[in-house]
Amino acid sequence: MANDNQNQVLDEQTEVIDDQKAPAKRVRKTKPKSTESGTTASLFGIAPYQPKKNEEYMSEGQLEHFRQILNAWKAELMSEVDRTLNTMQDESTALPDVNDRATQEEEFAIELRTRDRERKLIRKIEQSIEAIQNEDYGFCETCGIEIGLRRLEARPTATLCIDCKTLAEIKEKQNNG
Ligand SMILES: [Zn+2]
Repeated sequence: MANDNQNQVLDEQTEVIDDQKAPAKRVRKTKPKSTESGTTASLFGIAPYQPKKNEEYMSEGQLEHFRQILNAWKAELMSEVDRTLNTMQDESTALPDVNDRATQEEEFAIELRTRDRERKLIRKIEQSIEAIQNEDYGFCETCGIEIGLRRLEARPTATLCIDCKTLAEIKEKQNNG
């Protein structure tokens, strides 16, 4: 019985403490939510497009906005390719040590894979720029609906709406599995 009373007292105390705590301001965690925005576009100091009221989708201004992003992105990738090619040329002088050479070959292999990815990405960017010229940009290749500004800000080379993209990824997984 004594124990029960003690427990009760303790419980009451905790309650009191909790009550005192409650009014205190909770420090909200300012961990930024990972949204789709703020990736590619912000890299080039280009603020997300703010459409005017009743502005039609893929208006002149919007097309120009994405053209700027895509051009800046492409330029960035091209200079990256140049930079690494130069580094590789500089470093590819004969290394006497076999181990050094092996390490260097490994590094080069990684470099080449990266270059390959970049070239593919540059090609995709060029296709998007072409789509802007043809005014096909911003619409899903599969179903034809609007891909949406938010998705395009995050993925300026997107050619599928989020639904078709998700579906395509599921199918790809099934085919590979
Ligand atoms: Zn679609």
